Amino acid sequence: TAPEQKPEEVIQRYMEKVAVPPEEDCIICMERLSCPSGYDGASDSQAIPPNTVGKFTKCGHNLHLLCMLAMYNNGTKDGSLQCPSCKTIYGEKTGTQPKGKMEIYSTPQPLPGHPDCGTIQIIYSIPPGIQGPEHPNPGQPYTCRGFPRLCFLPDNHKGRKVLELLKIAWTRRLIFTVGTSSTTGEPDTVVWNEIHHKTEMMSNISGHGYPDPNYLDNVLSELASQGVTEGCLNP
Ligand code: NAD
Ligand code: ZN
Ligand code: ZN
Repeated sequence: TAPEQKPEEVIQRYMEKVAVPPEEDCIICMERLSCPSGYDGASDSQAIPPNTVGKFTKCGHNLHLLCMLAMYNNGTKDGSLQCPSCKTIYGEKTGTQPKGKMEIYSTPQPLPGHPDCGTIQIIYSIPPGIQGPEHPNPGQPYTCRGFPRLCFLPDNHKGRKVLELLKIAWTRRLIFTVGTSSTTGEPDTVVWNEIHHKTEMMSNISGHGYPDPNYLDNVLSELASQGVTEGCLNP
């Protein structure tokens, strides 16, 4: 886990104070930026007054610093920020995936739609445990249905690139999360996060199999929206 960083310092690392706020609404509290943050009182921050407006260093979007602080304090507090307007990630986003293991095998059998190469098989194993402070019900158990979960990638150039990025996503705890399964409705269980995996090899009736000509590009953009990009491979 990341070393403890003061939330105010994380905010100020990626946002600079704006002297004259633009005539816009804050996307978090919906108040005018020239008016104080609607989250005044929701935060006990002494360091940031409610009328201070900040601008993200890269994307340039403006919001109340106090609103961004409230949003940060509501999340995993991992030292990273995500612009609520355009989703640009500042720092390294991490998730809440519980402990487990990711194993990789290869098989010569080709996938439908990828006749010229073998298959990479990923096996995710996560045992049941107790929810931490980053989970919806800290101290309560979580269940793990359908593990080990097997996933498939074509063993070609693009498939191997996706695999390397999935390994990074795994170490950043982004592949699974603890929540309510939208398939079964079960709460407090380990579920897929925002990065789709192919769990079926020989048909795509479920939408979770092959052939699917767009899959590798789709998963690359899902990885990118979690901040996992090719730039992470050879920094
Ligand atoms: P979920 O149903 O909350 O869905 C989260 C995301 O995972 C969604 O984007 C969804 O499209 C995707 N997803 C759903 N089913 C998938 C599948 N079979 N393969 C790949 N992606 C899938 O997430 P969840 O509860 O983690 O996923 C449900 C899947 O988990 C089931 O289809 C099954 O594979 C497994 N499961 C198995 C058991 C069991 O007892 N064997 C029980 C519950 C879930
Ligand atoms: Zn605001
Ligand atoms: Zn932005």
